[in-house]
Amino acid sequence: MTDDAGRDPGLRAGPDGADGRGDPEVRVGLVPDELVDVMTDRWTAPYWEALAEGRFVVPRCEACGTLRFPPTPFCPSCRSDRLGWLEVAPRGRIYTFTVIRHAVIPEVAAALPIVVALVEPDEAPGCRIVGNVADADPEQVHVGAEVEMAARRVRDGVAVPCFRLR
Ligand SMILES: [Zn+2]
Repeated sequence: MTDDAGRDPGLRAGPDGADGRGDPEVRVGLVPDELVDVMTDRWTAPYWEALAEGRFVVPRCEACGTLRFPPTPFCPSCRSDRLGWLEVAPRGRIYTFTVIRHAVIPEVAAALPIVVALVEPDEAPGCRIVGNVADADPEQVHVGAEVEMAARRVRDGVAVPCFRLR
């Protein structure tokens, strides 16, 4: 299933998301855009390219079907190097999380607290995607919580995963 949840403009950081605390470009709960970047290689590029289009894909062995996230050169189950990509619905559950309350660098101070979660997509058991939980009271976040997954665009052509409690 694919719908517009993966392109939720509500997760776009910016003046609309400002809460009046400090820099209007800073949104509580999200690492500021200018601090976010991704580095791709031949194994991970398809993941990031799909995310930039608002889609979540996970790598799958084309020989035996094992999901291999993060992608690896060879399948850990059958050693095949044949890799395909499976698009999954943007829904999942929190596998684990942590709450950042201390500004290790001053640039994140206005965005605290930030919840960082590992989310397992409903359609990709064993795959765990890292991202911020947006608009969440940290006290409401718990292991097993259901989330919507969205691509948070940080600049042209670059998006990162972001989650919202369902
Ligand atoms: Zn395999």
